Amino acid sequence: MNIPFGKPVIGDEELAAVERVLKTGILVHGPEAEFFEKKFSQFTESPFSVSVSSCTAGMHLFYVASGIGVGDEVICPAQTHVATAHAAELAGATAVFVDVDPLTGNLCPEKLERALTAKTKAIAVVHYLGVPSDMDEIIKIAAKHDLKILEDCALALGSKYKNVHTGLLGDAGCFSFYPVKHITSAEGGMLITKDSNLAAKIRHLRAFGVDRSHGERSIPGLYDVNDLGFNYRMSEIHAAIGAAQLEKLPSFLKKRKSNFQYLSDLLVNADCKGLRIVPQINNDVKQSSHYCLSVILDAQLALDRASIIRELNADGVGTSIYYPHPVPRLSFYANKYRNRDLDLDRLVATIFSDQSIALPVGPHLDLGEMEVIASSLIRAIKKRNLGSL
Ligand SMILES: *Cc1c(COP(=O)(O)O)cnc(C)c1O
Repeated sequence: MNIPFGKPVIGDEELAAVERVLKTGILVHGPEAEFFEKKFSQFTESPFSVSVSSCTAGMHLFYVASGIGVGDEVICPAQTHVATAHAAELAGATAVFVDVDPLTGNLCPEKLERALTAKTKAIAVVHYLGVPSDMDEIIKIAAKHDLKILEDCALALGSKYKNVHTGLLGDAGCFSFYPVKHITSAEGGMLITKDSNLAAKIRHLRAFGVDRSHGERSIPGLYDVNDLGFNYRMSEIHAAIGAAQLEKLPSFLKKRKSNFQYLSDLLVNADCKGLRIVPQINNDVKQSSHYCLSVILDAQLALDRASIIRELNADGVGTSIYYPHPVPRLSFYANKYRNRDLDLDRLVATIFSDQSIALPVGPHLDLGEMEVIASSLIRAIKKRNLGSL
């Protein structure tokens, strides 16, 4: 039995798309990226979608386009992918880490407000594991202190807050098409926004800062450069794969949800002591995207996490950890900010890094595989429950 944690579902449509693009010979600056952007706007109901080379690139562009850099502070949740903080730091800003909610792993609005200083310019909101953050509260704080909001939606494609797709609640949202995410383009990302000026600026900065796009040049090859821009474009091949995947997204999301629900029911019914499930919230306010099913072990079981994971893996069950460290504990940040009085051991974020195991629910898997995952985990936990009696 082999149940990978993440495996892209690639079919004839993606293969045909790659072949089609390669045969045209137009590999960048073509209709495919535009088409993918248009389709992404339709799916998320976003006025503007800008394709980029990764989610990280999109977030970096957001800060540069928003004039956020040296001397500015950006609030980041302590529990996230390093990219959330790196994007702000790459722009020259300082990432300020705020602890997360013990139930969901999302930013705590109360702790957020306490971390604000005169230098704070933006809040990076992460919808952890695809569960929307408390946007009303965060938007209120941002409005009161005149802060920008960037939503890191890398795990939140398909998530909605009050019926608005995540990424459209703040100033911009960035999505990732890395292979294990909801859809893939191999590498790639998309930034969505309601702000036409911001979208235009980001289009400009993703391509060196040239003054006119490929299509706008009356004499081919003639252009000027009026900004320090990047090369953060998405290629036509990546875009064509992404667009083919987007067609399948509704069925992928449905499968994730039913896999999650089934696996969740199996685990709850088994009544394992010392195990809880990080909920995917679905109610009138929040619709989640079921990125994975993360279980939290109690402190006692967590001492044995490595061997529990090894037992799961030996049964063919692929696992992961979201994320392996609170970002301020990663060597780069720990070294850079060693003088900060952040008590790393007491962060709620460590519950997720040190006590969780992420189980797969992706569209590459069926209910039968959920049963294998459940029985493998239940066996590992029950064995230890007995031992502790
Ligand atoms: C995967 C991930 C990223 C990075 O996305 P890339 O497309 O690889 O840049 C950023 N933020 C979060 C929360 C992620 O999970």
